[in-house]
This record gives sequence, structure tokens and C-alpha cells, in this order.
Amino acid sequence: TCTAEGVVSALRAAVAVVIAHRDELVRLDREIGDGDHGENMRRGFTALLSRLDSEPPATPGSALKLVATTLISTVGGAAGPLYGTAFLRAASAVGDATALDGPAVAKALRGALDGVVARGKAEVGDKTMVDALTPAVAAAEAAGDDMVAVLVAAADAADAGAESTVPLVARKGRASYLGERSADHLDPGARSTALLLRAFADAAQ
Ligand code: ADP
Ligand code: MG
Ligand code: MG
Repeated sequence: TCTAEGVVSALRAAVAVVIAHRDELVRLDREIGDGDHGENMRRGFTALLSRLDSEPPATPGSALKLVATTLISTVGGAAGPLYGTAFLRAASAVGDATALDGPAVAKALRGALDGVVARGKAEVGDKTMVDALTPAVAAAEAAGDDMVAVLVAAADAADAGAESTVPLVARKGRASYLGERSADHLDPGARSTALLLRAFADAAQ
């Protein structure tokens, strides 16, 4: 299981991963978007780091809510509101529990996916973060009670889901303006979703 402290260390790990992959995400978004995804994410997660220091959350749910409000106010673009909604719904899914087990993590991920879909209306195959998150949720729900197993299953499925966006033609977001020319590129938002889930899984081990 994972208490507020564990969630905060996982979030700190996610900040480090986002910073380390900032340039990669910029490059991916330059290929099929406007080139700002890496910088949008770096800005948001750097702001998160200072808020984790100044307002240490008391429960897993309040940590997830802090992520949501920080990302909504700092990331911008399409991804800011989408990730913000994802973390907000994840926070509601865990409620005021003091510790999360595997099934609670799976519920949080399901909430996150529902939030992204409610907000962005993308389906699997549209070449968005939904292509990484949807298989991650399914894998998490099938992984059983162990929290580390749930997170590793989610991260593995998200990696494969992100890779699956390469041949796709985008039907949502900026990349859709390119039509057929969006094919043969990895979707930046799917990549950042996979990176975040891998950071959470690695932090939990
Ligand atoms: P912007 O496109 O506004 O510059 P970002 O570059 O930060 O925003 O984020 C782009 C990513 O957002 C895309 O790679 C895609 O994964 C995701 N995205 C865009 N539109 C949607 C949507 N409607 N539903 C889900 N994800 C989306
Ligand atoms: Mg962009
Ligand atoms: Mg933009």
C-alpha cells in the first residue's frame, strides 16, 4: 500500500522524469504539433515540486488534487486541462483514504481515463494520450491486489499503447490538422502518459 508520503515520493519521481524528457517531448510535438508539450509539462511539474514542498498533502487524495490544480493553472495547451481533469478524477476516486492498495490505484486510473475522455472526447485510435491510458487501466484492473504489480502492469501497457500511436492518423488535437501526414510519429501526449506511469511504477518498487 501507499500513504500520502509514498504518493508524494512518486510525484517527485514523476517531476524528475518529466524534466529529463522535456526535450524529447518537445521534439515529438514539433513533428506533429506546435512543439510546446515538453515545455508545458516541465513548467507544470516544476510548479508541482514547489507546491509539494510548501503545502505537503496529508492524504493520497489531497496530493492528487494538488497535482490537478497545479497542472490546470500552469501547463496550458490541450494537455493542461486534460491532465488536470485526470488527476482531479483520480483524487475523487480515492476519496479520503489514508493509504492506497492495488485496487484503489486501479480505481484512480479508471477515474483519470474517464476524466480525460469526458473532457477531450477522444477514443482509442485517435492518436492521443487515451491510447496509452486505456490499455493501462485495463491492465491495472486485471493485475490483482498488489499495488506494485498494478502499477507495473499499467506502465507496461501504457508503453505499448503509446507505441501503438506511431502508425495512426490523428483525429483529435493539433496533430489532426496534419491529416495523413500525422502518421509515422509517436504522439507526444501518449508518450508523456507512459512516462508518468513508468515513473510511478519505478517509485513504488
Ligand atoms: P497543444 O496541442 O495545445 O499544444 P500539448 O502540446 O501540451 O497541447 O499536448 C498535446 C497532446 O494532447 C497530444 O499529443 C495528445 O496526446 C493530447 N490531446 C490533444 N487533444 C486531445 C483530446 N481531445 N483528447 C485527449 N488527448 C488529447
Ligand atoms: Mg503542443
Ligand atoms: Mg500549444
